[in-house]
Amino acid sequence: MKILKFGGSSVANADNISKVIQIISDALNESSGLIVVVSALGGVTDNLMKIASLASSRNDEYKKVLDLLISQHNGAIKKLVDSNRRKATLKAAQIKYAELNDSLQGMYLLGELSPRALDKIMSFGEQLSAYIICEAIKAKKHRCQFVDSRTLIKTDDNFGSANVDIKKTYELLADYFQPQQKLSIMGGFIASDADEVTTTLGRGGSDYTASLVGAAINAEVIEIWTDVDGVMTADPSKVKEAFPLAQISYEEAGELAHFGAKVIHPKTMKPARLKNIPIDIKNTFNPQASGTRICKGRSDQNFQITGISSLGNIALLCVQSSNGKSIGEIAAKIFDIFSRRDIEVLLITQASHEHAISIAIHKKQAVKAKNAIEKVFALELKAKEMSPISVVENLSIVAIVGQRMKGVPGISGKLFNTLGINKVNLVAIAQGSSELNVSAVISSDDEPKALQAIHRAFFGAEKAVINLFVIGTGLVGSTLLKQIKDSQVPMRICGLANSKGACFNTDGIPLKLKDKKLAGAAPISAGEFAQQMIQLNLPHSVFVDCTSSEEIVAVYESILKAGISIVTPNKKANSAALKLYRKLHNLAKENNARFLYETNVGAGLPVIHTLQNLVASGDEVIKIEGVLSGTLSYIFNVFSLGNKKFSEVVREAKQKGYTEPDPREDLNGKDVARKLLILAREIGLALELKQVQVEPLLPAKCFSAKSVDAFFAALEKFDQDFENRKKQIAKQHKVLRYIAVLEKGKASVTLQEISQNHPFYHLSGSDNIIAISTKRYNNTPLVIKGPGAGAEVTAGGVLADIVSIFNELSYEKLK
Ligand code: ADP
Ligand code: ASP
Ligand code: MG
Repeated sequence: MKILKFGGSSVANADNISKVIQIISDALNESSGLIVVVSALGGVTDNLMKIASLASSRNDEYKKVLDLLISQHNGAIKKLVDSNRRKATLKAAQIKYAELNDSLQGMYLLGELSPRALDKIMSFGEQLSAYIICEAIKAKKHRCQFVDSRTLIKTDDNFGSANVDIKKTYELLADYFQPQQKLSIMGGFIASDADEVTTTLGRGGSDYTASLVGAAINAEVIEIWTDVDGVMTADPSKVKEAFPLAQISYEEAGELAHFGAKVIHPKTMKPARLKNIPIDIKNTFNPQASGTRICKGRSDQNFQITGISSLGNIALLCVQSSNGKSIGEIAAKIFDIFSRRDIEVLLITQASHEHAISIAIHKKQAVKAKNAIEKVFALELKAKEMSPISVVENLSIVAIVGQRMKGVPGISGKLFNTLGINKVNLVAIAQGSSELNVSAVISSDDEPKALQAIHRAFFGAEKAVINLFVIGTGLVGSTLLKQIKDSQVPMRICGLANSKGACFNTDGIPLKLKDKKLAGAAPISAGEFAQQMIQLNLPHSVFVDCTSSEEIVAVYESILKAGISIVTPNKKANSAALKLYRKLHNLAKENNARFLYETNVGAGLPVIHTLQNLVASGDEVIKIEGVLSGTLSYIFNVFSLGNKKFSEVVREAKQKGYTEPDPREDLNGKDVARKLLILAREIGLALELKQVQVEPLLPAKCFSAKSVDAFFAALEKFDQDFENRKKQIAKQHKVLRYIAVLEKGKASVTLQEISQNHPFYHLSGSDNIIAISTKRYNNTPLVIKGPGAGAEVTAGGVLADIVSIFNELSYEKLK
């Protein structure tokens, strides 16, 4: 015989119940007998609890919720039950509703909600569902026996989570179910005590009912039909990348369930395991999927761990002996009182040197637990032999589970490393004595991030996604967005902002809709943008600053502190005061975040990287020399080779979009000075921007002109000077180049005459060139040359930095 259990979502409404009946019909063809266990219709148990709570607090709202609940059941009856039995079924249901209503009225009058009364109210969910589905099955011409579970499942009177009298229950079940019965149906979750008073087995307890029935009659298999493809590597509602496991052991399933995998109730495994009956987890909405088999032996995965679970609403009690009182003695007493008061201990850790013990329990039991400890240790607390009991809330437990962990070193290291890298603080850690789990207590705010990061660390980097937060959609920003769309690396834009608006979407903002989304939202400050990004707390978040604004740089500090990496072409941070520069770089290191800015110098050319590699490999930089401005490179290249006047060339460069809107921002040499400063700092020089000597390209008059037009007018007056100089040096086959030099700790930017045999002579377009002389490259410098400006190459460089973060995730540390 087989047991088939269907959960709340599988029987939530008439359509779903029809699917369930199809599955039952198919199973009937293959099996000699079936016992079907059903949960209440989806949402009903929650609603019954709500109704009970409203009624007992004398709130008439309960009637509305009750009406809805009644119409949910009547609706199912009308759709599913044959016309000749419909009336009778509705009438029978009506009797149940009346009984339920009577109980609620009693509660209303008493203004009291006892656990015993609550169990009675909750039991109507399964009483009704089993009865209605039985009638619906009959409408499909199957004979079906309705069973009131309360007559067969016997428990103690621990209402809310009653303990089953296994011996008695097995006898009753085995007696009742005979091989000739082809199909029976019963409600899960509900039972009764020795006095026939209704009890329940704890939330989600229908799985347990199915297992009890299966074990009692030695079923060949217990099938749990739910709304997912099986037991998965993590809760799929929390970790999108989770995938189903083909086979796991009873012990692993038990551990996963203990730490919150709701897919199966933790008590389900024991009855099945003792009788060696496999439990199959199947999806009602995808019956073809092979599902998960829970059975004896090992899981068949090739991963270090089997799965990850998490449990929210945790409180941590810390008990500390301060005067030599043995912590072992204290612990023993605590466990004793906890077990007597039904306080479930989820996890314990003991720091022996501190004489302290931390106990994780469900938050709803925290007050009861604290009071109990304080009562038992009243004398010790008064005598200060124990420190006051502290309770920390808003915590979650995350646990990795798996049989393969046993005896394999480094797994907990990998877990804690992953949490550390992702800036998740550990409040407590514990390893189960069976070595089947390692668990960590963390802040609930970090739970989603932790789960995703751990999943990625143990189940494959290919599933990792970089979550980008991009600010600035100008030329570089918008080009970057296009390039991201075509990139092979999995990344999504979770936040986007420009001066007009900002939008967020943790699933990724569709780039087609970005303009609409930005236009539809109010603009927010950089600070607010950063705050929202930090609050989302997504793993592998990267902040991309595609502006040149100092206002944005002001929020880098908080971003790095949150462990979020920054990628930017914005030079303002690295050329700011040395104090800020150092602070940001240190924060990045301390918080395990990357701060990448390859495009600060030479656009997409690998200048910074090369320098960093030289320094890191122990080479010593002697001199750096370069044409560092794509704009100025373009201006001098065109001017030197052609016949145009200097002002004409500048005007043309402006028209082509090669200069800033005000070309003086390029011509004042400050941009080059910033780049040189950044290179200087990269090789360890403690320079400030004002220490970079800049030879002005133009006379002061040009810079003081009131408008851009006035500037061009002023510039024209110097065309002749430039022309004369050009002619004069042309005779010596020389050209003008605006060159940045770093040597002997000094940084300067000057306009130089360059002869034909100099590597800087042959430049075209907006080429940059950087020559680095080092101890190793002393005869011929290491030269990097190529396009040093333009949105495509700059955005490409930014993207390369982002990709390097992804690659690091895949290959580094977490291996
Ligand atoms: P039912 O109503 O069928 O009893 P539950 O809602 O109790 O179903 O359990 C199924 C849910 O368990 C899934 O929808 C899923 O969100 C959650 N879940 C938590 N952890 C896991 C896991 N490791 N594998 C699969 N599902 C999980
Ligand atoms: N209906 C009960 C609950 O919601 C039992 C179950 O579904 O397993 O907790
Ligand atoms: Mg369930």
